[in-house]
Amino acid sequence: MSIMGAPSSSGRFGEFGGRFVPESLIPACFELEKVFTEAWSDPEFKNEYQRILRDYAGRPTPVTELQRFSDWLGVRVFLKREDLAHTGSHKINNVIGQALLTKRMGKSRIIAETGAGQHGVATATAAALLGLECVVYMGEIDIARQALNVFRMKLLGASVVSVTSGSRTLKDAINEAMREWVASVDTTHYCIGSVMGPHPYPYMVREFQRIIGDEALVQMRQILDGDVPDYVVACVGGGSNAAGTFVGFVDTRSKLIGVEPEGGAAINRGIPGVVHGSLSNLLQDDVGQVQEAHSISAGLDYPGVGPEHSYLASIGRASYATAHDSEVLEALQSLSRLEGIIPALEPAHAIAYVIREAGKTIPLGSSVLITMSGRGDKDAESVAMMLGENN
Ligand SMILES: *Cc1c(COP(=O)(O)O)cnc(C)c1O
Repeated sequence: MSIMGAPSSSGRFGEFGGRFVPESLIPACFELEKVFTEAWSDPEFKNEYQRILRDYAGRPTPVTELQRFSDWLGVRVFLKREDLAHTGSHKINNVIGQALLTKRMGKSRIIAETGAGQHGVATATAAALLGLECVVYMGEIDIARQALNVFRMKLLGASVVSVTSGSRTLKDAINEAMREWVASVDTTHYCIGSVMGPHPYPYMVREFQRIIGDEALVQMRQILDGDVPDYVVACVGGGSNAAGTFVGFVDTRSKLIGVEPEGGAAINRGIPGVVHGSLSNLLQDDVGQVQEAHSISAGLDYPGVGPEHSYLASIGRASYATAHDSEVLEALQSLSRLEGIIPALEPAHAIAYVIREAGKTIPLGSSVLITMSGRGDKDAESVAMMLGENN
């Protein structure tokens, strides 16, 4: 049995996870669990999912060994190149799976919430491909900050709904999408963008992302003559690219390390609490109010984390570190200059960790696989502004 197997029937990974939703959504969660379980063991569904990811999204993504970067650090560094997948990140793996499930359930409409806009764009892409109506909920503040992604979603045929309640950012957009799902569950699937939410989402999204780790394990064994990397490192927002990577290596000797932003370190500084449908580590104040996360990377700007990561941390199978904004900006520039690969700010956290720890907790000569969850084009403008301010 794998350490990252299926959760319990109530969706628990150890004590974490579960299905904390209003009564009215329980049937929808049960339906989704049933449809997903059947689909995932149906070779026809899996073939279609894999065919689309191959012919449309460009999988398998390569593993690139970094020569100059490795020489600089004294450790052998490899990138799993999710930045080369269609739409520029790993998010496509999950949304293709959920869009196919939407059709399998006989539903014609898909809704999503988005903060930075990346999951919204990915969902709108999958909806366009499969002919589904798509509505994306987004906080009013995020809409103003992410005008380009809002326009992309509209080009792809989605409608974008401005959420004006609360802090007018991601967590309010999630609440609104949940409410909308309750109201339209007969025709509508709610596409969650990470390993978060009520059961079966954390499990289902991890399974749709395991293609990263499954491919990378085969690729690394080939490169390392049957061996696996000493370290496997990925950034953690909600935790889907990390979970999809870790599941490929969890039953090997590789050390698994998730890297959180210093200002959104739910595993490192949160305590267990329930938010958006499941129990996991969560940034909260003394009276249990959810705290705002702050990160230069909008994709990691979330106070919670997927429950399976809380579980992996609790049993010690994965460890979780943090990276500071300033180290992340440095790492982004170093990788760009040494390798000609501009990372998104999110995976730049994982890169920053490896730069900091090489020759310290990561011994010289080690092999390290980093999941390059996305490309940096989307962040170029904000990076230019931050560097302008700092230099
Ligand atoms: C959304 C996003 C993330 C964070 O999401 P996870 O669920 O933690 O993977 C990380 N990297 C990129 C490029 C993203 O777009």
